[in-house]
Parts: sequence; structure tokens; C-alpha cells
Amino acid sequence: MDPAITHASPDGARATAPRALATEAVHAGRDDLARHGLHAPPIDLSTTYPSYDSRGEAARLDAFATTGAALQGPPVYGRLGNPTVARFETALARLEGTEAAVAFASGMAALTAVLLVRAAAGLRHVVAVRPLYGCSDHLLTAGLLGSEVTWTDPAGIADALRPDTGLVLVESPANPTLAELDLRAVAHGCGSVPLLVDNTFATPVLQRPAGQGARLVLHSATKYLGGHGDVMAGVVACDEEFAGRLRRVRFATGGVLHPLAGYLLLRGLATLPVRVRAASANAAELARRLAGDPRVARVHYPRIGGAMVSFEVRGDPHAVVGGVRLITPAVSLGSVDTLIQHPASISHRVVDADDRRGAGVSDRLLRLSAGLEDVEDLWADLDRALGERPAPTRR
Ligand SMILES: *Cc1c(COP(=O)(O)O)cnc(C)c1O
Repeated sequence: MDPAITHASPDGARATAPRALATEAVHAGRDDLARHGLHAPPIDLSTTYPSYDSRGEAARLDAFATTGAALQGPPVYGRLGNPTVARFETALARLEGTEAAVAFASGMAALTAVLLVRAAAGLRHVVAVRPLYGCSDHLLTAGLLGSEVTWTDPAGIADALRPDTGLVLVESPANPTLAELDLRAVAHGCGSVPLLVDNTFATPVLQRPAGQGARLVLHSATKYLGGHGDVMAGVVACDEEFAGRLRRVRFATGGVLHPLAGYLLLRGLATLPVRVRAASANAAELARRLAGDPRVARVHYPRIGGAMVSFEVRGDPHAVVGGVRLITPAVSLGSVDTLIQHPASISHRVVDADDRRGAGVSDRLLRLSAGLEDVEDLWADLDRALGERPAPTRR
């Protein structure tokens, strides 16, 4: 059985016995459905909502502007909050063991909101550990939001902190090398500065960083949470105080999640534990076979497991990408089908080549996201692709 999840529900209203992760995955965010005579969650596409009580709305908007607390009572306007999206937020918070979660239009919109919250407090300095997802690296390095970044190794975090440091940012396992960090030790090094752990690769099924000292847990929900390659989203799981700041930034800057995406994410969460375990079993088996293959120089597979495998080929990595037939040659990850891509060309292309290599992202590295196919079919495809020579006209 999964470890039980014990924490306050976001609205503080429920005090049920702790439920296992697999149970939460299916039921969280749906607790009121039976009361409404429903089985599937309703999708509320309204952008605005009628109200005959302007005075009451004024008071509610004043309260939101002060605390950013999720609006109680009927919704007001789509950018302030949506009931379908709120179901997903409630469910993800329960899975991550946090008080709240705030959803955004993409993982990058979620990270942007976190940086804006800190910049608004005058804390523009970020300490970060490479590798990060390529665009997260780029957002910080290019200073697109006026932030300044100090790159360090995990042991150097405490020394890198400054009075204006607003955030420490890490990924574990990291994209694309699957390098792992001791999150408790990292959190210790952060002192009172909020630690953001990008938990996209591990998902709450394998790791719940909030329990190890992370104040903020970020997901590109586009990946495993959605799980079917058909929804783009981001989410930050955190305490209610920080969630209030994120909601205010989301309201003012508009990076909201569409209700249909919220519905698909809630649906995705129900099968998350099953999908992650099945895909992880495939990934572990592929990692084992790759590690014993003479065409492969090095295999990266995390100790905590997971459905991602990275490996450095001795031959031409482009030929492998060009040679797969069952596996989808595409960026992104976490879908039901297996995906492969070349980080130096795609996911981490925006990172300066020297920085990229310095972070362990070799030009021969391939990143594979294992799906739910039969592992023998996957291996047959990979085996053939590894053996082929480059054929530029093939695709
Ligand atoms: C994809 C990804 C992101 C960015 O998320 P989007 O939904 O594409 O904006 C951030 N972090 C990690 C680890 C990712 O893999």
C-alpha cells in the first residue's frame, strides 16, 4: 500500500482519515460529486457569472486583492478562478501533501508566476542548480523577467545566497540527465529562502518534495499529470500563503488554465499512479538492456525509478531519432506512448552549448520517455534504431 497522505485539505473543512495515494488520485477533487448527483466532474466553461449583489462582489474582490485566498461562493470571472480548474488544484495539492495548488496555462507560466511573486517583493536573485529543463535555464540566464541567476552545485547553495535571493530552484531527477539531489540537504542549505523543486519527472507517485523541505513544488502538468500528450498546463503546489500571492499574479497577468484542460488533468490524475508504475517498469527494463549494449556508452536511470531513461550512444544520436518507427520521435514526455528526443538539438537547444555540456548534457545524449507499450515491442524498435546508420532522406 502507498504511504498514507496526511495533511490539511485546502479548505480546512474536511477531516477524514488519511487516504493512500492511489485512493486520493481517484477521489480527490471529486468529494462533492455524489452530493450533486453526479459521477463525472462537470466542466464549467463560463467566462463570467451573474450576480445581483454588487456590494457583496466588491467586498469579495477587496478580500481577494488582500490575501489572494480562493474565492468562496459563486465564481465571478474566469481569470479569478474556475470551478473545474479548482478541482484539479485541490486534487494535486492532496497528492503533493500541500495546503494548496495554483494552476497555470503551462509549466513555464507557472515558473514565471513564481518569479514574479518574488520580484514583487524586491527579491530578484535566484540560485539554481543545473541541469534544469532548457527553457527554465533560458528564462533565468537571459534575465527575461529581470531576475539574476547564480548557478551552483548543491553543496554551494548556502554560500550563493544573498540578501536579495528570493528563490532556490532545482530539479530532481533533472531534465535531461536524471541527476538526483538529496532534497533534504538542499532544503537545509536554503535556510529561509523558499526552495522550488520541479517535480515533473518524479511526480508525487515517486517523490513528494514538500515533505522534504521544499516550499514550492512545480509541475509541467503537460507531462505525466495530463499523461496523454493532449493538454498543456503547469501547477505550483505550496502553502496557502504563497498560493495567495500566485493567485493574485495569475489574476493580474492572465496565465490561466482553460477549464477543459483542468478537466483533462483531473481525469489524468486518476490513473497517474498506475501509469507511472507501468511506464517505470518499462523504463527500468529498457535501462537494463541499454546498460548491457555495446552501442551505448552510458545509461542514466534514477535510483528512485521513474519512466525516463537517458543514454549516450557511441554512434550518431540523430540516426537513432531518425530510425525509430514505433517510438515517437518528439520532444515532451510523460505520455502513454514512448517518446525519444535529442536534448542538445531540442529540449535544451536554448541553453548555451558550453553551459549545456558543463551540466552533463552530452551531444550524444538521448532522452527517452517510456510509455505503456509492451516492453518487447519497444526494445525491438530501439534495438533496430540503434543499429542503423544515419539516413537523412528517411524522414
Ligand atoms: C516541460 C518542462 C517544463 C516546462 O513546462 P511546459 O508545460 O512545457 O511549459 C518545466 N520543467 C520540466 C522539468 C519540464 O520537463
